[in-house]
Amino acid sequence: MADNCKKIRGVCGMCPDKCDIIATVENGRLTKVEADPDSPRGRVCPRGALSPQIVHSDRRILHPLIRDGEKGSGQFRQATWEEALDYVGERLRAVIDQYGPDAVASYFGGSAREDCNMRCLSFTKQLGSVSGFSCSSTCNFSSNVLTPLSTMGVRTKDLLHDVDHCDIVFVWGKNPETDSGPLVYDRAIRRAKQRGAKLIVIDPRGEVYADLADQWVPILPGSDGALIMAMLKIIVEEDRYDHPFVEMFTRGFEELREYLATLTLEQCSAWCGVPVSDIRALTDLFCSTEKIALVSYTGLEYQCSGVQNNRAMQTLWAITGKLDVEGGMRFVGDHFPTVPLGPKDPGRKPAGYDRYPLFSRILGQGQFAEFPKAVLEGDPYPIRALILCACSPAVTYPNQNMWHEVYRKLDCLVVLERFMTEDAKYADVIFPATTLFENQSVIAIPGGKKMRNRIVEPQGEAKCDVFIFQGIAQRLGIGDCFPKNDQELELWMVDGNQAYLDALKASPYGIVQQPCLDLRKYETGQLRADGAPGFPTPSGKFEISSVYLEECGYTGYPQYRDVREVPGMDGAPGEYPFLLTTAARNRFRFSSFGANLPEIAKVYPTPTLDISPEDAERLGIREGDMVTVETRFGKKSYPARLCPMKSGAVHVPYGGGSSYMPPAWRDGNINDICSFDFRDPLSGFLLFKSLPCKVYPSK
Ligand code: SF4
Repeated sequence: MADNCKKIRGVCGMCPDKCDIIATVENGRLTKVEADPDSPRGRVCPRGALSPQIVHSDRRILHPLIRDGEKGSGQFRQATWEEALDYVGERLRAVIDQYGPDAVASYFGGSAREDCNMRCLSFTKQLGSVSGFSCSSTCNFSSNVLTPLSTMGVRTKDLLHDVDHCDIVFVWGKNPETDSGPLVYDRAIRRAKQRGAKLIVIDPRGEVYADLADQWVPILPGSDGALIMAMLKIIVEEDRYDHPFVEMFTRGFEELREYLATLTLEQCSAWCGVPVSDIRALTDLFCSTEKIALVSYTGLEYQCSGVQNNRAMQTLWAITGKLDVEGGMRFVGDHFPTVPLGPKDPGRKPAGYDRYPLFSRILGQGQFAEFPKAVLEGDPYPIRALILCACSPAVTYPNQNMWHEVYRKLDCLVVLERFMTEDAKYADVIFPATTLFENQSVIAIPGGKKMRNRIVEPQGEAKCDVFIFQGIAQRLGIGDCFPKNDQELELWMVDGNQAYLDALKASPYGIVQQPCLDLRKYETGQLRADGAPGFPTPSGKFEISSVYLEECGYTGYPQYRDVREVPGMDGAPGEYPFLLTTAARNRFRFSSFGANLPEIAKVYPTPTLDISPEDAERLGIREGDMVTVETRFGKKSYPARLCPMKSGAVHVPYGGGSSYMPPAWRDGNINDICSFDFRDPLSGFLLFKSLPCKVYPSK
């Protein structure tokens, strides 16, 4: 190998999912990214493989930019770092002087959700502002924190879905084949299949493990809760549950039983589109063994009763003896502290705190869906400045016109980005941020930490987001709260523990603690910090009825609400016969990131409307025909893609809607026909995966 060509073992820096790679760097340029064959986390997805072109793209923002035209014009002039930072410092200071610190907000997105960047969420706190927001307002937090914490007292990261020892895997609300990251569950599922485990997929989309699944249970979008309730009803009313567990370790079983008695299997079947006989057969299979692993992610959280659907799902596992057993849903670790609910009235409250108390009192943040109202109406208090880090709310939330209005009204919009976004067009200042390939930091991996070593030098004048925040913070008198260089940043990430940092530097694959994986720890007192048997919940029980929910004024036990019964979502009977689901993950794009890059748009040139061949034939639609999908909130046209789908369901990917995308993506923003107003009342999450709609050939 030539002197100017190096192979570097490291971590992919194209998304936050931390696959282990071998990078080839020639003359200081990244030229190739390959999966690290020696690491179980080794992987390169199609987007990761395009990293060399993306890191060195001529579309990168390489210098600080100050707006030089109307807001939204996209006209900027190059500035020096000093000038741009001083300018932002002055504008933020003016906002604070006039309106107080809460008027300065920040929002962190997922596309550069690096651990060090997320630590900069403390920027607003250090400033004395309550207005720090993150993409937890729209992704992951509902299913992976609110749900397990309010039910079992832990987070999803504390759970192991034991695919390696199960008899059956249920894939429900997730497609592990198309996930980001090192495909841990996909690999485990393939191993399980090889040793003879059954694979059941519950999803509106039949492409999820189409070649591998033993059974696909097609379900209507947004109705998973109805299927779960039907299964619970059969299990409870036919006395097929684990009596000792329910009697000793649960709270709220009787309320659930009473609620289930008000439902009929026929009604649940009509809601979810699964025949009663199939629900019965699925329940029989579910009750046939303890060893059933659940592989689930965010699929159930964008529904009317998203948190409750997921809580019902965990209840299904718990009351049938599948909790903390080999092959089931297990706890990784022990002696978990019971998380206190935040105060009901903390004095100054971030936007959304009163409307979504469960969300805010657990996360300690406001709900960003309430941010536009704070800017446009000053409700509950005026917000006049916003710092956006690695995100594009104008694309990832509905109602883009409203976002444009929000950005016009702000006194100061600051954007930290790698490429231009729809939001950045309205910025006062854009700072050039590094890709994660250009950062030197410490990252979290399951069970531990490892180094992220720099693979290429920062391009142009780009800086790690942390150093940009430090520069802004310095202008506001809080510069000492943030690191100024690589050495300080590394130590900051390990809370000043130099010995641990040295050990990390000597461990190429990081340092991982072996967690406690004893079984049925709720019986032995190993789950709770005080050593008492039970769960680390406020009541010490598995909370079918949650104390947190009750304290926040919600019904504590899971109830299902069907989207077609929500006034304002549906039309006259039969007017919107389909249900639309959006935003299935794919290997090419990551949220709003991807379609704005020609390298990715070339391999994924257009969003499509996915429809079943039966429905397409009935409507006279052929592959590639332009088809209109219409909800109460608008209509859009896409080329049809005929594929395995539940009849009555259609899917369209999200991520379009930026002026910097090719026309098919720019004009194909499916969020334009989703609603900003209808949400899960517990999480505030929008209903991206369950919208009544009609579908017809475009004229
Ligand atoms: S999922 Fe793809 S882009 Fe993300 S870290 Fe892994 S290889 Fe890189």
